[in-house]
Amino acid sequence: MIEDKNPQRTSLEELGEFGLIDHLTRNFEIKQTSTIKSIGDDAAVLDFESSQVVVTTDLLIENVHFDLSYVPLKHLGYKAVMVNLSDVYAMNANATQITVSIAVSNRFPLEALEDLYAGIETAAKLYNIDVVGGDTTSSTTGLIISITAIGTAKKDKLVYRSGAKPNDLLVVTGDLGAAYMGLQVLEREKEVFKVNPQNQPDLSPYTYIVERQLKPEARKDIIELLDKLEVKPTSMIDISDGLSSEVLHLCKHSDLGVEIYENKIPLDPQVISTCEEFNIDSTTIALNGGEDYELLMTISQDDFPKIKGNPNLTVIGYMTEKDRGTLLITRGEQAIPIIAKGWNAMKNED
Ligand code: ADP
Ligand code: MG
Repeated sequence: MIEDKNPQRTSLEELGEFGLIDHLTRNFEIKQTSTIKSIGDDAAVLDFESSQVVVTTDLLIENVHFDLSYVPLKHLGYKAVMVNLSDVYAMNANATQITVSIAVSNRFPLEALEDLYAGIETAAKLYNIDVVGGDTTSSTTGLIISITAIGTAKKDKLVYRSGAKPNDLLVVTGDLGAAYMGLQVLEREKEVFKVNPQNQPDLSPYTYIVERQLKPEARKDIIELLDKLEVKPTSMIDISDGLSSEVLHLCKHSDLGVEIYENKIPLDPQVISTCEEFNIDSTTIALNGGEDYELLMTISQDDFPKIKGNPNLTVIGYMTEKDRGTLLITRGEQAIPIIAKGWNAMKNED
């Protein structure tokens, strides 16, 4: 994990707005040939020649989307970028640039923003994207971060939510539920800390799930893998709200139904053991947990031999005609309707 290490406190007023922007953006390098003009003019200039351009934006608000009592600012900066890149990759596009806008109250010292920007810079370096602009303003309450990501793809490469066909395989990347269980552990430790601030939490049994919550990775590697395997998904979406919510989006936009097999849903052993400890059903967490930033896609059955055995890609079900409904087939071979945030429906069947 990346640590915040900025013990100093320099007030933002000392720098002024332009000094602050210059300071925070001083290390950003330009890597993309499509970036013609970056930070420093009234607008950035980009040149994508004959590619199509995808644009996506997200707004993150303190105490709504993040809690600074257990999220280090460096991680927050990193995660704010990942959330956006994940949306670009979900279009089967290549992310190229971002803009970063922040509203910040003067309760934050310069060093806090340096940490935030260190996380943004790390993400930009690792994912080979340019930070080409943004806006900086003051806030009377908490911290607000808005990131816009830009990407490109050739027209015939773009994948929408709407392209799935009956009998297409439903495929998910990585594993599910870890980010949510990481959050449960962090929230429990926060409560323990409130009661006894001397108590140092031992997070070692939870390293994977806590890292998945604090430092998620957008699946750029999957877009490259699909390209290499010569597989173009028929539809795709990233998993930000949980598998059930996202699969219902694919069904709705493609006008189809789905069957998902409970015993095929990929879970990390740490998710299973932490769910046991918290006495929560791991399937419920995988379906509704959210913030996994994995990709959920459908592929034609003809492409199955190309993905077969790949540890990054798990077939969890298949698309059906709409009138068959949206179903989870449980380990006990019961068919349960999938509903977004289906906590109660799941619980009742157990
Ligand atoms: P304007 O007054 O035209 O909005 P600004 O003074 O806000 O311009 O910004 C100057 C330059 O710095 C612009 O290129 C802008 O995109 C960039 N910029 C401003 N704030 C940020 C930020 N928080 N992160 C990255 N770039 C920023
Ligand atoms: Mg501005």
